Amino acid sequence: MSRNTEEQGFNNVRELINDTCGQMNIPEMCCLRLMECERELTVHFPVKMDDGRVEVFTGFRIVHNDSRGPSKGGIRYHPDVNLDEVRALAALMTLKTAVANIPYGGAKGAVICNPKTMSQSELERLTRRYACEIAILMGPERDIPAPDVGTNPQVMAWIMDTYSMGKGYSVPAVVTGKPLEIGGSTGRFESTGRGCMVSTLLAAKHLRIDPREATVVVQGCGNVGAVTADLLVKEGYRVAAISDSKGGVYNPKGLNLEDVFAHKKETGSVIGSRNTEKITNAELLELKCDILVLAALENALVKTNAPSVKARIIIEGANGPTTPEANKILLDNGVFLVPDILANAGGVIVSYLEWVQGLQSFYWNETDVNNYLGDLMTNAFNQVLRIREDEKVDMRTAAYVIALQRLVAAMTTRGIFP
Ligand code: NAD
Repeated sequence: MSRNTEEQGFNNVRELINDTCGQMNIPEMCCLRLMECERELTVHFPVKMDDGRVEVFTGFRIVHNDSRGPSKGGIRYHPDVNLDEVRALAALMTLKTAVANIPYGGAKGAVICNPKTMSQSELERLTRRYACEIAILMGPERDIPAPDVGTNPQVMAWIMDTYSMGKGYSVPAVVTGKPLEIGGSTGRFESTGRGCMVSTLLAAKHLRIDPREATVVVQGCGNVGAVTADLLVKEGYRVAAISDSKGGVYNPKGLNLEDVFAHKKETGSVIGSRNTEKITNAELLELKCDILVLAALENALVKTNAPSVKARIIIEGANGPTTPEANKILLDNGVFLVPDILANAGGVIVSYLEWVQGLQSFYWNETDVNNYLGDLMTNAFNQVLRIREDEKVDMRTAAYVIALQRLVAAMTTRGIFP
């Protein structure tokens, strides 16, 4: 996919790292290391398709930095995914695990494919072969994948099984986001949305916004968007609009999410669900609302549409949904933006809890998991908020400051080998 200069994914993250390092007087060796990815694997592998043809797919697994622990990050299946995007997402994972203060580094993987047009058996063969190709990087102590856009718990089960076959014994801790039957964690499926919900409540409390009078708009009706919307309604918020890749639905009085989700399940899209008005994805982002949750893909807000955003709070449920130009416009307009590396950290936090449970073969109940998640998210949010106020910076810069402080402490303490 060709991108314009505003959408240069990895360069955007590098620039932010570089600028924040400059402001913090960070040792050059740390900054230089964080500007590159430590390990980059590109694989081209054959898969037998159902009609007897063989297709060659391209996949990636990239470890950005593992100074604070094994690398952690999702696997994306998408027709437009590319190396630059995977590098950017891997770097965001390094920063996110540091903000959440869990003992991980950052990684990301992807396969260029369209899972929506593939059969289950084709997806299984693709996944198993890709897992074999990246097995040289994977391992519970080395690099631990998880689901992302286009992948799900079943895909994680195939990866876990493929890796375990190679070892000769079951290795549940090699992936997270697994089905419960094979060592998944309770609460993992909802965890990213739950973390977004916690971030929203904390941001609204900080700005003294009353949930009963607040309107929420959600871009994206997948794992993150749908769960965030659902949990916010349970907290008393009104969700007035939600969208998927085909468009959005709107009801200023509040959507009946059960209807919307049932309609999406039945037809593949939210459009046409009962008592709703159809709106375009572009219109949804510009709706009058208090809280806008971005839970689709990267680069949703760019310099052309950012000036029209009317929300007071933006929650970045997706990774990289706001370009730097858009970010600046939003800040100038006084928007309180909770950045991706904080807002969507709930997923990796519960992945961490799943990994710990798998390593010790001792499993917690959902209340315990949700309580841990709530505590870790709240701590992270409050620490970022404190830096924002002390240093008079925005929430994204504050999150980068904390992440970089922790990464630099780890890198300088460990030193450089040899
Ligand atoms: P998903 O595939 O379940 O959902 C994505 C949703 O976005 C779908 O409903 C899709 O139709 C919609 N969408 C795509 N393009 C759109 C557009 N232009 N306008 C409106 N909607 C559009 O994926 P997900 O797991 O919910 O992930 C969403 C984002 O959150 C991604 O950026 C991902 O990296 C990030 N994220 C996910 C997790 C997780 O645990 N799933 C964790 C952290 C971050």
